[in-house]
Amino acid sequence: MTVLCTIIWVMTAFGYQIKRSKRKTIGLYVIDGELEVRAPRYCTLGEIDSFVVEQQDWVENKLEESAKKASEKPVLEDGGTFLFLGKQRQLRYETGSPDVYELGDDIIISRDLFTDIERLFEEWLISEARLYITDRIFELADTMDCADLITDVAFRKTKSKWGHCTEKGKLQFNWLIIMAPPVVIDYVIIHELAHLFHLDHSKAFWAKVAEYCKDHKEHRRWLNDNGHKLWFT
Ligand SMILES: [Zn+2]
Repeated sequence: MTVLCTIIWVMTAFGYQIKRSKRKTIGLYVIDGELEVRAPRYCTLGEIDSFVVEQQDWVENKLEESAKKASEKPVLEDGGTFLFLGKQRQLRYETGSPDVYELGDDIIISRDLFTDIERLFEEWLISEARLYITDRIFELADTMDCADLITDVAFRKTKSKWGHCTEKGKLQFNWLIIMAPPVVIDYVIIHELAHLFHLDHSKAFWAKVAEYCKDHKEHRRWLNDNGHKLWFT
């Protein structure tokens, strides 16, 4: 008899999920605040449980870290906060025809009963990102003497990358980067512009980046440590 099922999910009483597969060792993963145990098919529940208990400190740290990151995400609600150009801004809701505008340090979302707040806020962020980032792209490209190599600039919410550059000179940026500090946005732009000269991540590429952004390592670290604060969905 052929068993077609290759993965079996089991929820145990110990607050984690077990994913069985052909793997040979047990692995622990914290995904979206939940512990997932990946284990060989032949492992008993007792063996898995002992392994989890042995790794308890690691699991607790990871769960704590994950909860902290979740609490630092932008909050789309009246009085909620989010980063914009690296500064903490507050959202305030008011009644009226759908619109988003700035009032001092606050961002006001004017809404009626039918307003899709997330879509309205997203549209506002995208238009701010387009204006700000496009200007910076061409200012920096002039400095780097590569403006004539750019054939297209697009903005998309991509999961894994803040920016992208093709060999044909098409640049793409994740518009969520508008929330990062200006120096970090500049680094992301310089990184992609440097790809117009070197499509790889060779020494020559990083030398080009460093020529125009000497603190690039620090900015990359900022993105690693704070990137989750730029995702509100
Ligand atoms: Zn790159």
